[in-house]
Amino acid sequence: MNPTLLPGHPHFHYREGELFVEELRLTDLARQHGTPLFVYSKAAMLAALAAYQRGFAGRKAKICYAMKANSSLALLQVFARAGCGFDIVSGGELERVLAAGGRPQDIIFSGVGKTRAEMRRALELGIGCFNVESEAELDVLSEVAVALGRVAPVSIRVNPDVDPKTHPYISTGLKGNKFGIAHDRAVAAYQHAAGLPGLKVAGIDCHIGSQITEPAPYLDAMERILDLVEAVEAKGIRIGHIDFGGGLGIAYNGDQPPAADALWQALFARIDARGFGDRQFMIEPGRSLVGNAGICVTEVLYLKPGEDKNFCIVDAAMNDLPRPAMYQAFHAIAPLRAGSEGARRYDVVGPVCESGDWIARERELAVHAGDLLAVMSAGAYCMSMASNYNTRGRAAEVLVDGTQSWLIRERETPAELMRSERLLPGS
Ligand SMILES: *Cc1c(COP(=O)(O)O)cnc(C)c1O
Repeated sequence: MNPTLLPGHPHFHYREGELFVEELRLTDLARQHGTPLFVYSKAAMLAALAAYQRGFAGRKAKICYAMKANSSLALLQVFARAGCGFDIVSGGELERVLAAGGRPQDIIFSGVGKTRAEMRRALELGIGCFNVESEAELDVLSEVAVALGRVAPVSIRVNPDVDPKTHPYISTGLKGNKFGIAHDRAVAAYQHAAGLPGLKVAGIDCHIGSQITEPAPYLDAMERILDLVEAVEAKGIRIGHIDFGGGLGIAYNGDQPPAADALWQALFARIDARGFGDRQFMIEPGRSLVGNAGICVTEVLYLKPGEDKNFCIVDAAMNDLPRPAMYQAFHAIAPLRAGSEGARRYDVVGPVCESGDWIARERELAVHAGDLLAVMSAGAYCMSMASNYNTRGRAAEVLVDGTQSWLIRERETPAELMRSERLLPGS
């Protein structure tokens, strides 16, 4: 029997009615490691990366994985070994890159609120570039660099003010949000940066939002960025690299985002036409490299039929899968054993004591207590956003490569959750 592919998930498929990741049966992994369990396909990660690599073939380009999407060490290792750099947003992420074997010079440091201590550590290690998000940050970074006797390579994150048509919480390139420097302030900010003793202007940077599913906002943003490169260089400040951020969407629910290679083909057509084709390009993809490479396997604990709604209560919750509660996000639900007999409409919810603790709404499912379900598209912004709310340990994680699997994170125990706490003295 031919394996049945799940749309948007080429490395997860049904074989004789059972859901597989690459060559392994997910039921076997769940039995071995328990649930909830995150499972990642290495082949899916590398295939997503390859689409970008094809888009940049023959160009000077660097792909910096935006690791906040999923910062588990083994995933970072996979990308480091495949030649990626990393886009980090905290000192903690910096230490993770080093722990996973990434090189400091392949790191770019984004984020609106870098502390002096974070800057100092990054300068001492010699990271590749600071993506600076405000004029005040330029001054502080220069001061910290001078005190260390270093020069900080900077790019300024500019706000191209294009609407990526995405959820308001994950749109970042419009005027009214906290990220970046306004387009019309950018030239002045570059002149300011060029005059500071601790800084060296290296490039320009933008990131317009997340889960972008159309090429138009990218094409518009690229034109606006190239306008700025021209304006800044007219002042005698050389822009060595153009960092175009991340944000490319994935298929959660039949979305059809452009493929990374097709998108970059379209972008390079514009870039070449304007004579910038020989610059160095950097990108910071997060979700599109890992989102559909991971799932979360969860067990059905109870079915609770009701007058208005039927609830399917599972052992994964908002602390494991925060996206529905945070953004009303959609995750497809796929049973580990296919079947549609006796299907009913359910809201899939977790055990956490919050009405916001739901994972999927109004889904036709043929389920019984004890069945296993896969929450699809759970590779990005799930484990990296997981919490210990309700003193729930974070789930275990497994990475699959063909017929092999590795436990890459053990399930957290209650003792681990309490380890850093201290009781009061006395009785
Ligand atoms: C979050 C973020 C990214 C990655 O965004 P995705 O939508 O996951 O690709 C890239 N760059 C910056 C600065 C970010 O904040």
